[in-house]
This record gives sequence, C-alpha cells and structure tokens, in this order.
Amino acid sequence: MDRTFPSLLARMQELKDLQGVIGLATWDQETYMPAKADEARAHQLSTLQGIHHERLVDPRLGEVLAWAAEQPELGEDPRAMVRVLTHERDRAVRVPQALVKALAEAQSRALVAWRQARKEKRFALFQPALARILELRREQADAYGHDGERYDALLEGYEPGMRVARLTPVLTALRDALIPMVAAIAAAPRKVPELLAGRRFEAEAQWRFTLKLLEAMGFDLEAGRQDRSIHPFTGGTHPRDVRLTTRIDEANPLNALFSTIHEAGHGLYEQGFSEPHYRTPLAAAPSMGLHESQSRLWENVVGRSLAFWEHFHPALKEAFPQALAGVDVGGFHAAVNRVTPSFIRTEADEVTYNLHIVLRYEMELLLIHDELPLEDVPAAWNERMQRYLGVTPPDDVEGVLQDIHWAWGEFGYFPTYSLGNLYSASLYRAAERALPDLTDRIRRGELLPLTDWLRTHIHSQGFRLPAEELIRQVTGQGLTDVDFLQYLRGKYSALYGTSL
Ligand code: ZN
Repeated sequence: MDRTFPSLLARMQELKDLQGVIGLATWDQETYMPAKADEARAHQLSTLQGIHHERLVDPRLGEVLAWAAEQPELGEDPRAMVRVLTHERDRAVRVPQALVKALAEAQSRALVAWRQARKEKRFALFQPALARILELRREQADAYGHDGERYDALLEGYEPGMRVARLTPVLTALRDALIPMVAAIAAAPRKVPELLAGRRFEAEAQWRFTLKLLEAMGFDLEAGRQDRSIHPFTGGTHPRDVRLTTRIDEANPLNALFSTIHEAGHGLYEQGFSEPHYRTPLAAAPSMGLHESQSRLWENVVGRSLAFWEHFHPALKEAFPQALAGVDVGGFHAAVNRVTPSFIRTEADEVTYNLHIVLRYEMELLLIHDELPLEDVPAAWNERMQRYLGVTPPDDVEGVLQDIHWAWGEFGYFPTYSLGNLYSASLYRAAERALPDLTDRIRRGELLPLTDWLRTHIHSQGFRLPAEELIRQVTGQGLTDVDFLQYLRGKYSALYGTSL
C-alpha cells in the first residue's frame, strides 16, 4: 500500500465490498437459504469475516492511516473517512486473537445453554455460560481501554461517543417520568379495547399493502427489495441494494404493517447515503441509536399517528373489507396505540417500551461491574419488572431469559433502542419546525417531504459526525428526554382522556 489517498481509498472500498458480500450471505441465511446449508453458510461467513479482519488489522493499513491523519490538505470528507476507519481498526487491533476465539466459543456454548434453560424454564442452566461470557466481555472492555467505566468500552461498539456518565441521568429521569405515566394510563377512565383479535387478514392482501406503504415512504424498490423472515430486519450490500424483511401473520396485520414501516425507516437511511460516500466508511450511520431513530420515527411518531391513518385507513379497509368491518379510523388508531404493561420487550407499546430498556441497562451495568451475584439475577429482574411495570413474570422464559442478546454476548447494545426513541421525537419536532404543514401533508398521504428532510439532514451526512453531534446540529440540542416525554403526554392524554 502506498502512502497516497487513492491507495487508502482502494483499501476502504475493498473492506466495504467484503462487508457487502457478508451482508448478502447473512440476508440469504435469514430468508431463502435451504435448512441443510446451515453449517456450510456458517463456515462461509466465518471465512469472509476472517478475511475482512485480516485486511483491517493489516499493519500497512495502520501506517497509511497514521500518515493520512497528518495530511490536513486531504479535505473534510477524506479526513472523516480516515478518522472513522482508524477508530474501527484501533478497536479491532486491541483485542487479541485468543480472546476473539474464546468469545466465539463462549457464545456458541451460551446459545446452547440459553435454549436449554428456556426449554426447562430455569435460568440456573444458563448461569455458568453467562458467567463465562461476562468474564470475557470484561476482559475485552479492558483490552479496548476505558477511563474506569468498563461499560463505556462496550457501549462504544454500538453507540460511538456515548458514555455511561451521559446516559444514566437521562435514562433514570426517563424511567422516573414513565412509571407514573404507565400507572395513570392504567387508571384512566377511558379504556382502549383490543379491537383486532379474532379477525383474519389475508396474507397476500397484507403483502400488497406493505408495498404500498414502501412506495408512499419513498423506499426505492429498484435499489432494494422486501422479503419475508421470522424476525424482520434490514440488511443488504450497498445503498443501491437494501434488503428489508417483514413478517406476515394472518391473525394480526399489525406485525406486517409496523415491521414494514420500521424497516423502511432503516432502509431509507441506507438508501440515503450520499453517492460520493459509497464504498467508504462514511456510507454508514454514526451509531445504532441514530439508525433506530429513523425506524422509530416512521413506525411510531408517523406510523401510529392519527394523521397517517386518516389517509391510509380507507385503503386498509378496502384491502380487508370483512376483517375491518365496523372499525373506524379512531378505533383503529386507538387499537394500534394500546398501552398495556407486558413481560416481553418486543411486544411492548411506546409508553412501556423504554422501561424494559432501562431495566435491562441497569442489569447490564450491575453484571459488567460484577456487582450482582448471578444466582440473584432472576429475582433482581422480577423485582424491577414489578417496580417499573407492575407485573411479575410467571417464569424465567417470560423474564430474564426472553432475549437472545446476552447469549450472543451483546452487552451495551440495548440502550441504543432508547436513544433511538429519544432522538426520533427530537427529530420530528425539528422537522415540524422546518416544515410547518408537515402533519397536514401526512394527513394527505404525502410522506415524501419528511423523507426528503431526513435525507438532507441525517441520511446524506453518513458518518461525518458522531450521532449526538449530528443531532445537536439538526435539532439545536443534544440527547434529551424532553421532546419524547412531551410527545407521549400529548398523544396519550388525548387517547386515554386524561391529563398525563
Ligand atoms: Zn430497528
């Protein structure tokens, strides 16, 4: 590799191409791959990831990056590319190969143990594997380096620049505002019925409706596609090849509707990276929280708003004339915003959702800090569920074993969901200030002005700035729970006929 920017750029492009192919193989694994290809695909992915890692930690790349960091005449975008790749490379270099291998082994053991523990509904069966995962993740945090807060080093992998010292006060205040809000909604005089239970929504009609939604949002189906998978996700190989998936359930159309809107929010972000950034480290979101802000903005702030359904409800009724007979737009809007404390995070509504996240964040801090004996984890979990949501899980499967992420060793990832929710509300407020007739246009089914605004201010910026800095630039303030709480209070006071 020469000490020239074109030679560095070629390496950046190569790394991005490898990631694209890994993305394709992963997408295929979750959608169309025959079951018997399971083991072969695992080998293929591991080989590709090995090549990517080798290229990334290559000492010559380190030298050229160090040289490039000293060349101020490179220009702003190339310097940002150098910064982002240097950061990624530094983290990869710091973790010894023996630790990477030990973590991979511990993860596959933990997955087996987690499945067995769920089968027998006993956390104790997962406990030794979790202990090993935690031990290795602490070791990894120390290898990354930190200022005494190990969790920061893990959080950095998902939310670069965010710190526990910044996050904890915001999430604690959010928790303390949400607990009484959930209680007030439960005590509200108006009840929201579970309107759609017992009806049948034909799969093909659901599929067609989701494609209509994609089109209205401006998702380019010539630069992406939608397929089905058990767990909806957004993947792909390039901004011109973005793959969304949705899940269709004939008993409940809300799965497909809101999965599609959510994933399209992610997908628009991926399609919106600016062309000069393609195949470089800048064609990426600066954090998972910011990525999630796009999906949450579309799914919740827009997709669960009355204005949105005032436009789309007639078409939905036309698609499902029998199933939706007697369901008016007000009833439908209320039904898709029904608040009920539940055990399972993934089924939670907008009001209770962040309490699930705060609970898990607090547990993760205790676990990474080694401040909670592992045998006490289920009791600590259940005690918080009762205190925050007023419900106690009947067993560990509905409690501490519900999510696969700890078995994957993913500590530091959950808070990005709450960051996404908080950022989504702040961004929508900023969009409303910039586009004063925004809600009216949504009421007319015109979603593209919002897509364009997001593209200009968020998507096309790629990874030029860290997430919170970009948010500050666009909204005038950094991370805050003020906009989100104001949004919830306005919406749910009206829905439940009470003053929250
Ligand atoms: Zn998402």
